[in-house]
Amino acid sequence: MQSGLTIALSKGRIFKETLPLLAHAGIEPAEDPENSRKLILPTNRENVRLIVVRASDVPTYVQYGGADLGVAGKDVLMEHGGEGLYEPLDLRIARCKLMVAGRMDEEPLPGRMRIATKFVRSTRQHFARQGRQVEIIKLYGSMELAPLVGLADRIVDVVDTGNTLRANGLEPKERIADISSRLIVNRASLKMKHRAVSDFVHCIEEAVNNHA
Ligand code: AMP
Repeated sequence: MQSGLTIALSKGRIFKETLPLLAHAGIEPAEDPENSRKLILPTNRENVRLIVVRASDVPTYVQYGGADLGVAGKDVLMEHGGEGLYEPLDLRIARCKLMVAGRMDEEPLPGRMRIATKFVRSTRQHFARQGRQVEIIKLYGSMELAPLVGLADRIVDVVDTGNTLRANGLEPKERIADISSRLIVNRASLKMKHRAVSDFVHCIEEAVNNHA
């Protein structure tokens, strides 16, 4: 794969919404990752392969050169920090918002709120910017539960339609950031495989503009 390209993607929404962009660049996976246990998916292009990893691991694979390129949500990139990564393109897919949410029937809040989230870094930065002291409780999922059982006063999570919040008696309180997926590139690959990487980025950029 010395001159080939390895692209890291996660299953689900990002994979589905990236497929038409890849198709525009003439790349079609040989298998559907939802029906395959393979972690390396060949494509119709001999010199391009896809690897399927957890969404939060995509920046790590690209940072250390396990993949030349990847597609990751801005939420995930903000948590990762972006070291060793070049972020040339907003793909404008998998859009949502990173929000602070709390109970609809919220009691008066304590001076030092407890916030449950898996987005620890973004949460810390958000409240530090406001000069508010908060205690952050790290969770790995189902954050909506925390305010309902008294584990936390509020949560920070990504919100799309808001249906999940509403179904649990929660509502958005503050917006932290607008989120969409980004194309990311390993800095060494950008130098060593400059032609292949920049051709790919241009094709994807064209596809994004066509979809807009
Ligand atoms: P919602 O449409 O707000 O009910 O979203 C449903 C769940 O999907 C939420 O709990 C989010 O955690 C998750 N979600 C929605 N949009 C995204 C996205 N673009 N990226 C990652 N997770 C998302």
